[in-house]
Amino acid sequence: MSGFPATLFAGQRFAVVGLGKNGLPAAHALLAMGAEVVAWDDTEAARDAATGLTVQDPRQAGLHFDAVVLSPGIPHRLPKPHPIAVWAQAAGIPILTDAELLYRAVRKAGSKARFVGITGTNGKSTSTALLAHVLTVAGVPTAAGANLGPAALALPLLPDNGVYVLEMSSYMLERLATLRFDAAAMLNLSVDHLDRHGDMDGYATAKRAIFDRQGEGDLQVVGIDDARSRALAAALADAGSGATVRTISGRLGEGSADASPGGMLCDADGPIVAMAACPTLPGSHNAQNAAAVAVMAQFLGVARAALAQGLRSYPGLPHRQQTVGRIGGVSYVNDSKATNADAAERALVCYDRLIWIAGGMAKEDGIDPLVPLFPRIVHAFLIGRDAPILAATLRAHAVPFTEAETLENAVRLSAQAAAESHVPVVLLSPACASWDQFTGYDQRGDRFAELVRCLDSRAIQTSGDAASGHRAQERKPR
Ligand code: ADP
Repeated sequence: MSGFPATLFAGQRFAVVGLGKNGLPAAHALLAMGAEVVAWDDTEAARDAATGLTVQDPRQAGLHFDAVVLSPGIPHRLPKPHPIAVWAQAAGIPILTDAELLYRAVRKAGSKARFVGITGTNGKSTSTALLAHVLTVAGVPTAAGANLGPAALALPLLPDNGVYVLEMSSYMLERLATLRFDAAAMLNLSVDHLDRHGDMDGYATAKRAIFDRQGEGDLQVVGIDDARSRALAAALADAGSGATVRTISGRLGEGSADASPGGMLCDADGPIVAMAACPTLPGSHNAQNAAAVAVMAQFLGVARAALAQGLRSYPGLPHRQQTVGRIGGVSYVNDSKATNADAAERALVCYDRLIWIAGGMAKEDGIDPLVPLFPRIVHAFLIGRDAPILAATLRAHAVPFTEAETLENAVRLSAQAAAESHVPVVLLSPACASWDQFTGYDQRGDRFAELVRCLDSRAIQTSGDAASGHRAQERKPR
């Protein structure tokens, strides 16, 4: 159904390494386009699941490869390059990401469809899905995916008036060679993934690669709500590539397009839509995402009325401030996607009084950036491996908390605490990665939603000890 000709890559040979959610569709798509494909994964289970593919370690194949398509999760530099990446680099074989191959396939198939790339530390998926929704509402043939899924090479061939909207992680951006985005956006930069990029400069450099190869007629969108991104916007404007640079902000009056949470989304031509009329886009972070989408959608030819309609009707993505239940006057909000403090901050700031569920595998700066929001937290329930790290910060600021260990305990105890203290919101916004207890943020969020569904409102006690039987209980500010 992909629409790509079956002989498009005839005569080319690719090694696809890492057969997960990107690699497997990449291998099958390249094969379906006539390429010779050797597929490999270090784990036996993944190799066994790769039916219909030639599975062999490419180093053992004794063949010349045009490229190695390396799964974004496999490092080719830091913290330690994978042995196959070392081999490929020594042999002069390019290491590419699947989005690069999608671009080549689209152009080779003769389509002039445009490409949009969206990156940043936070807000990539929301902005990608939101732009795709706005384009679809406006009747533009659209395919969205890459980091967000579906994988780039699982996307169909679009006609000349089509638009690919690709969410690009820093790992993917390091592996592009010819892909030139017609419109590219860098939303924000905060501490994340430093293991893979060495330091903030390395991370910022990887993100900046989204603007590589752009020139005359292209669009560069940069968030200016953090200092590093602001500096990047200035550097791009000075670089004189010929591309148009537009700044965007989640604060009114700051960017070429901007909005504040309760205010209007505006640009140089005036107001576009009231953010209050866009219920799935709460907070200044989503105002920033909406501003980015407004600039890109108009660049792609969407009329202002269709843009406003798309912003108002956006259905939202799961695991991003998604209300998964309302029980006894308490809203349960699944923000499992907030895997770092910066993302969690965006959710916490939306509620004046809340019960907070957090924890997992903490990032570099723990939850220190959240300290100014601590007065909003009536009680925190901590889960996962690094609960003690989070507990230390909460204790130092006299925030009542309980080490609940598991999400199951945390949801049950939160329900009791919310009822007891008449708190309207229980927010799962972990500020941590999930790998210690879950297969990913999505499984963590799904489990939360399931636990909320199972909460029996009659069993929620309004008195008694909400956290009995759990260690390190600290219910009173100290
Ligand atoms: P990403 O794909 O970059 O991880 P998402 O759109 O999935 O981003 O959002 C992840 C989390 O980041 C959300 O839960 C939200 O709290 C936060 N977030 C979303 N947009 C922004 C933004 N523009 N700036 C900062 N934080 C954001």
